[in-house]
Amino acid sequence: MTDARVRTILQRLEQSYPDAECSLSWRNPLELLVATILSAQCTDVRVNLVTPALFARFAAARDFAGSDPAELEDLVRTTGFFRNKAKSIRGACVRIGEAYGGVVPRTMEDLLTLPGVARKTANVVLGVAFGIADGVVVDTHVQRLSRRLGLTREEAPVKIEPDLMALVPRDRWVKFSHQMIQHGRRICAARSPKCGECPLADVCPSAATAGEVAEGKRMAGQAKAAAAGAKEPASERRRAGRGGPAESAGKAGARRSRPERGKKAAPAGRGVRRVRGG
Ligand code: SF4
Repeated sequence: MTDARVRTILQRLEQSYPDAECSLSWRNPLELLVATILSAQCTDVRVNLVTPALFARFAAARDFAGSDPAELEDLVRTTGFFRNKAKSIRGACVRIGEAYGGVVPRTMEDLLTLPGVARKTANVVLGVAFGIADGVVVDTHVQRLSRRLGLTREEAPVKIEPDLMALVPRDRWVKFSHQMIQHGRRICAARSPKCGECPLADVCPSAATAGEVAEGKRMAGQAKAAAAGAKEPASERRRAGRGGPAESAGKAGARRSRPERGKKAAPAGRGVRRVRGG
């Protein structure tokens, strides 16, 4: 990884997503903390649908801390993992009340003492609510893009973050993660990255392969499922209506109609279209 390549990536992200910011709705640090806890394994859009009623019911840390667990669970149910999330929110707010006078703390060290709060959540609260760059938010998009862009070889967010902190200037840490998240949502999706439209294609080592890797994983999953089906006794397959001649013909047809394997995407740097202003 050369400094010039990192500079180019940062420059293109800035050109493409100049206004990138946290997409969670919040009005104060406590709301952002709660919304970020709810955003685990859930889209920000879904969280933003849930939080208006939640914040209308509970406003201060003491309100969440003294809430009825069943009521809190019910209010956050649609964000998934609602029991754990409700428990984390209550636990964090109990500690905020007991140790920090009801005010969300402003240091990484203190935030990490709150139940259910790890570095990702703490980085969001520090960077977005307080404008403090203590680290880089590594969510699922930043994790995937950092590896595709060759910014890290690590897999675990906790190991990816120091790699990014070493490469990206500190004054870009907060915005960089928002820009990477937007790029992941709009262009470099997990399953089908749009390398042909990507403003980073000419500096991305995965430009010609990311789509193939995603397709390869999908096909491997299908092959595994087919193999598991083949092990199923014929009587069971008949009972379930699977594996008949018509279905076999359909599968063969599907195999033939798939795009040729090994076909490369357009060479990096050609046909590249900037998302915005790039
Ligand atoms: S070139 Fe492809 S793999 Fe690389 S960042 Fe862009 S969309 Fe992702």
